[in-house]
Parts: sequence; C-alpha cells; structure tokens
Amino acid sequence: MPSRIKPPMGEDNGWWWEQAARDKLVIQRCASCEVLRHPPRPMCDGCRSLEWDFVEACGRGSLASFTVLHHPQVPGYEYPLAIGLVDLEEGTRIVTQLVDCERDDITIGMPLEALIHRDDDGFKLPVFRPARESEA
Ligand SMILES: [Zn+2]
Repeated sequence: MPSRIKPPMGEDNGWWWEQAARDKLVIQRCASCEVLRHPPRPMCDGCRSLEWDFVEACGRGSLASFTVLHHPQVPGYEYPLAIGLVDLEEGTRIVTQLVDCERDDITIGMPLEALIHRDDDGFKLPVFRPARESEA
C-alpha cells in the first residue's frame, strides 16, 4: 500500500506529532488558565495566552459523532474509512480514525480507547477503537 499523505507539521503542531511518534497521545493545555485544547494552536481561545504546555491523555473517550468515508479514495487509506469525533475523558475533543470495528458496530456514545497506529513506513498516529475493558 502506498504511504499515507503526511499531515502538515509546522511550528504550531509539529510537537504534537513528535509525541505521537513516541507513542503518546497528548493534549495541549493553556499554561495560564489550564484549559485544554485540540487541535494544537498558538493562542488560548479563553484567555488569549500564548503560553502552553501539554498533558498526556489517558486514552479513554466516547464517540460524539462519526462519518464513514467511501469516496474519494486517497492512496494510503483503507476504505470504507470510519472517522469519529471523540469526547476525551479529559474534556476536549479529537477527530480521529476509528479502527477494529465494522460500520454496524459504531454507535454514538460508545466507549473508545486510543492506540498508536504505525504505518509500514514508520509514521505513527493516534487512532481509536472500541474500548476492550468494561467500565469499572
Ligand atoms: Zn487560557
């Protein structure tokens, strides 16, 4: 399979992909008001601070919305391609690929867990699958 088209990685978000390459799903946090935000961006929507750090996500979340892509088919992806909007337990959201599930298995609100997918060329990205551990 041809390799995936790589996301743009600039000054504002390259650090996030570096963490993914180290098998970590992280969330940017405002260093001033501590609000979490994703995707990474330079300024806090709330307090306008340009200072930030990040926290590692626990990887648990639930499905807020999803879509299944059939066309157009971009080289490097398998179709149908399930894309979900996930409410992370930490309180922010991430758009991500859903793996290890069939279309009919996907339901709004389902518990999900993160894993780091590794492409054949070594590129890593966080994706989500149905949670395997039952909620305690
Ligand atoms: Zn802030």
